[in-house]
Amino acid sequence: MSRPIHASIDPGALRHNLDVARRHAGEARIWSVVKANAYGHGLLRAARALADLADGYALIELEGAISLREAGLRQPILLLEGFYSADELTQFAEHRLTAVLHTLEQAQMLAAARLPAPLPVYLKLNTGMNRLGFNQNEFRTALKILDASTQVASITLMTHFADADCDQNGPGIAGQMARLDHLREECHVQQYPLSLANSAALLRYPESRGDWVRPGIMLYGSSPFPELRNANELDLKPVMTLRSELISVRDLEAGDRIGYGGIFAAPAPMKVGVVACGYADGYPRHAPTGTPILVGGQRTRTLGRVSMDKICVDLTGIHGAGIGTPVVLWGEGMPADEVATAAGTVSYELFCALAARVPVVEI
Ligand SMILES: *Cc1c(COP(=O)(O)O)cnc(C)c1O
Repeated sequence: MSRPIHASIDPGALRHNLDVARRHAGEARIWSVVKANAYGHGLLRAARALADLADGYALIELEGAISLREAGLRQPILLLEGFYSADELTQFAEHRLTAVLHTLEQAQMLAAARLPAPLPVYLKLNTGMNRLGFNQNEFRTALKILDASTQVASITLMTHFADADCDQNGPGIAGQMARLDHLREECHVQQYPLSLANSAALLRYPESRGDWVRPGIMLYGSSPFPELRNANELDLKPVMTLRSELISVRDLEAGDRIGYGGIFAAPAPMKVGVVACGYADGYPRHAPTGTPILVGGQRTRTLGRVSMDKICVDLTGIHGAGIGTPVVLWGEGMPADEVATAAGTVSYELFCALAARVPVVEI
């Protein structure tokens, strides 16, 4: 038998979650965000599961976009950082890809190209994130360049929110929405379609729907809101479940320490288990003692330091646990959001970090 760890992916849950996004999106169309190998779930697997439901796919990687076309998917595909050099433009045209433009350099490269077909473009506006996007003057210049160009098929405006996921006392999206409205008015581009909302904005701010929404994390069944750790409450279902088994069980005496650094010492005699899963599988090394985990369907906690291939767990009160008892690291019955919070990160990072050595099975 092989090492018992695997990640199971539930395409039905993915489809269900896109339906939930659809309910929130109203009339808006939906870019299913599948960047970073569909947040670790497998690009082609996820894209195929959504093939008859998705209005379009959005991602970062050109090779990934081309592989979607080669798999026969015909929906629009949005490249969220556009192209990085002019030599990619032919592939954009050939594969009918939509490019986000966020610099004047990109606008100039496109205007100077001689493509077999003009490209649909998204112009990214900086409304306060201060990461990618045009400020007002650059935006005016970009519009001038692109209006005069024969290489542009259509223009959509987009922006990205920095605080859509913060709680009610945080800044929210009002400031960025106001800046967006100001920019659109100043530059007389109110007629252009809009794409604004990520998962958090889609779920919380109906005014941010625009014409195309861009949910990512909610499709994979996680909550974008730090104060809401059970995505069930948003009617979302986990898509990835990381499973393994106990491969060893032992009894500790009071004072016995566990694992590297011995950072956990048994306060009294106790039974502990060893799970075949460690940071080389993508489990976060910084998950502290107490991180929740399911053993034999019962909730318990991790103990001591996560090692490369193993984690120890508390078997106190877990009846009948022994070698071969199933363990859920995250997914069904153990929200990835809870594990992520315990480890000081977000479920996005847990999913994306799933290691190549973990076999993935579709259920
Ligand atoms: C990743 C990304 C999204 C999706 O964000 P989620 O928080 O996963 O919903 C949307 N828009 C852009 C520009 C992105 O890069």
